[in-house]
Amino acid sequence: VIGPSSVAIVGYGIGGVAAAIRLRRQGHQITHFERNNSVSVLGAGMLLHPPALRQLHTLNLLEAAASCGALVRSVGAQTISGEQLMDINYTDLLAGQCGLGIQRRALHRLLSSADAGREAVVSGCSIESADTQRGYLFEGPTKAHGPFDLIVIADGTHSVLRDQIANSARRNDFAKSAALVGLLHDPQGVAGERLVQYFDSNRHVSVWPVGSASPVDPQYCSFAMNVPLVDAPAFRDQGRWRTELLRLCPNVGQLLNDTVNNSDLHIFSYRDVELSRYAAGCAVLIGDAAHSMSPQLGVGAQLAMEDADVLAHCLAEHQNVPTALRTYSKTRPLQLQRYQQASRWITPLFQSDSRLLAAVRNRLISSMAHTPLLKSIAKELLT
Ligand SMILES: Cc1cc2nc3c(=O)[nH]c(=O)nc-3n(C[C@H](O)[C@H](O)[C@H](O)COP(=O)(O)OP(=O)(O)OC[C@H]3O[C@@H](n4cnc5c(N)ncnc54)[C@H](O)[C@@H]3O)c2cc1C
Repeated sequence: VIGPSSVAIVGYGIGGVAAAIRLRRQGHQITHFERNNSVSVLGAGMLLHPPALRQLHTLNLLEAAASCGALVRSVGAQTISGEQLMDINYTDLLAGQCGLGIQRRALHRLLSSADAGREAVVSGCSIESADTQRGYLFEGPTKAHGPFDLIVIADGTHSVLRDQIANSARRNDFAKSAALVGLLHDPQGVAGERLVQYFDSNRHVSVWPVGSASPVDPQYCSFAMNVPLVDAPAFRDQGRWRTELLRLCPNVGQLLNDTVNNSDLHIFSYRDVELSRYAAGCAVLIGDAAHSMSPQLGVGAQLAMEDADVLAHCLAEHQNVPTALRTYSKTRPLQLQRYQQASRWITPLFQSDSRLLAAVRNRLISSMAHTPLLKSIAKELLT
């Protein structure tokens, strides 16, 4: 077992905080760097599948998450003409299972509440490079932090450190579409207990309940709309998202009132990243920095928390950091393979501008909807 080590974590997002909680529990000394000045996060809602809920359970956060999040029983898809393409109930996949809709900032707040080091995070500090052999991090060309025994890089989808660790990405594609995401006040629970994706040709929007930011706050639902990246600012700033949301999903129309400002929406751009290695020297990549993928699967937060868990297990089992990182780099890619394969398949179908591909996607989903194949794929990915 590795004795207390000096560990640097870059990024106070979901993976970074989960790693801090787990590694601090093992007695390591953590120095945590975050680019933003404030350690709270922006964003709208997320859907957590059962494996993410198991992670929250092992962090003793499930009860708190359930008290502010919203139960999601099923994940469905329909066309705007009302044709149901798919409806997958979690309990049909595995008895007693469900999903949880939660606000991104509520999840982050819960995780950071379990991190004893949250007050000591070095915020407003953008790490630009690393010396992974000697264990140093650099803020700008000259300001060095370290040395550290272990560097955990959790700087997200657009990681600047990724190329320095894994200079041979098997895949690093910047998506041409972006997600426009927001929250709608939903006191009557119009969104129900489901995530539904409404499709019209090459445009789609997902709507699902996400509960409240804290147990005393009002209830919200969240939406995520795919738009071409180049058009995303205009969609948001000119309010075109309202017309689109109403057209795709008229039943949330009653929630669209003047309390939602265009500036409350966020634009997320993303990448599909597959690396041939996750570690170099004393540094390891976790979360989106290591394996950013299509948000369509809704597994990114789950995988980031699992990465932190697996890393902590590797450190607990081995005599030194290099051996622990070698084990992590061998085991983790195998566990991630099925998500990466699924992401590779569905990204073109969900993010292409092609109407033909969109029609193929709809036919494919509806023809598979009642087959054992879809159920077994969903079981693999969602439970
Ligand atoms: C539209 C959208 C919807 C999604 N929906 C879901 C969902 O429903 N369910 C789900 O499980 N996942 C979802 N995801 C994915 C999920 O948000 C991510 O996978 C998850 O946040 C990854 O965690 P992370 O810690 O790797 O990165 P992040 O949470 O992005 O955190 C990275 C952190 O690093 C900081 N940082 C960046 N660069 C530097 C630097 N140079 N120096 C210091 N700090 C730095 C950032 O400021 C940030 O705080 C969605 C993603 C998108 C885009």
